[in-house]
Amino acid sequence: MFGTNGVRGIINNDMTCDLALQMGKAIGTFFKGDVAVASDTRVSAPMLRSALYSGLMAVGCNIIDLGVIPTPAIQYYVKTHASVAGGVMITASHNPPEFNGIKCIDFDGTEMPREKEEVIEDFYSKSIECKEWNELGRISKYSNAGSDYVDAVLAKVDVDAIKAAKLTAVVDCANGAACSTAPLLMEKLGIRAITLNANEQGDFPGHPSEPTEENLKDLSCLVKSAGADFGVAHDGDADRAVFVTNTGAYVPGEKSLSLIAKTVISSLGGGKVVTPVSSSSMVEEVVKSVGGSLIYTAVGSPIVARRMIQENSPFGGEENGGLIFADHQYCRDGAMTIAKMAECIVRFGPLQDQIDQLPVYYVEKRKVTCPNNRKDDLINNIVEKYAEGNRIDRTDGLKILFDDGGWVLLRPSGTEPIFRIYSESKDKELSASRGIEFEQEVLSFLEGIGKA
Ligand code: MG
Repeated sequence: MFGTNGVRGIINNDMTCDLALQMGKAIGTFFKGDVAVASDTRVSAPMLRSALYSGLMAVGCNIIDLGVIPTPAIQYYVKTHASVAGGVMITASHNPPEFNGIKCIDFDGTEMPREKEEVIEDFYSKSIECKEWNELGRISKYSNAGSDYVDAVLAKVDVDAIKAAKLTAVVDCANGAACSTAPLLMEKLGIRAITLNANEQGDFPGHPSEPTEENLKDLSCLVKSAGADFGVAHDGDADRAVFVTNTGAYVPGEKSLSLIAKTVISSLGGGKVVTPVSSSSMVEEVVKSVGGSLIYTAVGSPIVARRMIQENSPFGGEENGGLIFADHQYCRDGAMTIAKMAECIVRFGPLQDQIDQLPVYYVEKRKVTCPNNRKDDLINNIVEKYAEGNRIDRTDGLKILFDDGGWVLLRPSGTEPIFRIYSESKDKELSASRGIEFEQEVLSFLEGIGKA
């Protein structure tokens, strides 16, 4: 049931109140204690919340209702309250408004590891015993989890330096959970904030909640016309933050990841940065230039976060704007990302200038339909063909690293019958031609199967 980001589906199709009720019982049976619950602004949140509460209380769990707050804010609450056994976030992150989901948070505030989700799934599939009338759980409300989270972020950056710089920013809350925290964060950082889509509206009238370049056109225009120092947008549950420069240009995720990695590592004088194998070599080049090193993992923020813990790494993240700061908490952290970016601008100058100074890499992305049961054979076939003379990395799918610094990554999708092909190089034509070459490799392999 659980995918990479909890259980998700379309309301009253595969995400129903019956599911939320049984899920509440299963999660409560697993946690056996007080459970914090929060949601983003989706229209369906009250329906799922009510059903989930019934389930949790029926098995004897007390609920701490945190209201509408970002995912990293409930994660911070759970992490800092030892009496709480775990948390549940009702969100479908960046998905369209007809979706919603249930995501479990472990006792330490991290995203729940797969093994524990499997235990909950196992409870879910069984008949669950409920408590007697006098052992039912109760609900209490706590309304300061959002501001507690903002205060915790402030403690991790140089607030005085940011205040002194008198920055102006445009903040696009995407009508989501960020409405409760992002304007407050700006106020406390002394940043003049011009807000956009900053009212909680779960049908997302402003724009779809995925912070893509296409969806952030209003943000770009407003940054330019206001002469702001930067623009920032969150996704629906505000664990990710995506930026626009002072000239109104969209900042691709690998660039904000690189800049913030540089800020963190240079201020520490070194350290390990953790990122998935799909990330641009730009990150590695920038991090090495300030004395740091890179550790690559499989794709997925919980995997990045767990590896950071193991490696004692101060910073990690993915190219989708989901950045993780070890000194705050081991999860994607939207508010922390804004605060660090502000610090980065104060220390190193205008955002557009910093972007212009980054090394240039070209990425080619393709996808090919491939039956799930042929994915392993396909990879083995390509390994055989390219192993000689090239470095092969099997961390996630197959990454072939060429002597010229370029690489190709073939990644089977975990959810769809497709293969994603990424090709990156400092040479634009080489990146493009390799993308085509490997697409052809995959297609001719699949054609060969068809003939056989
Ligand atoms: Mg999200």
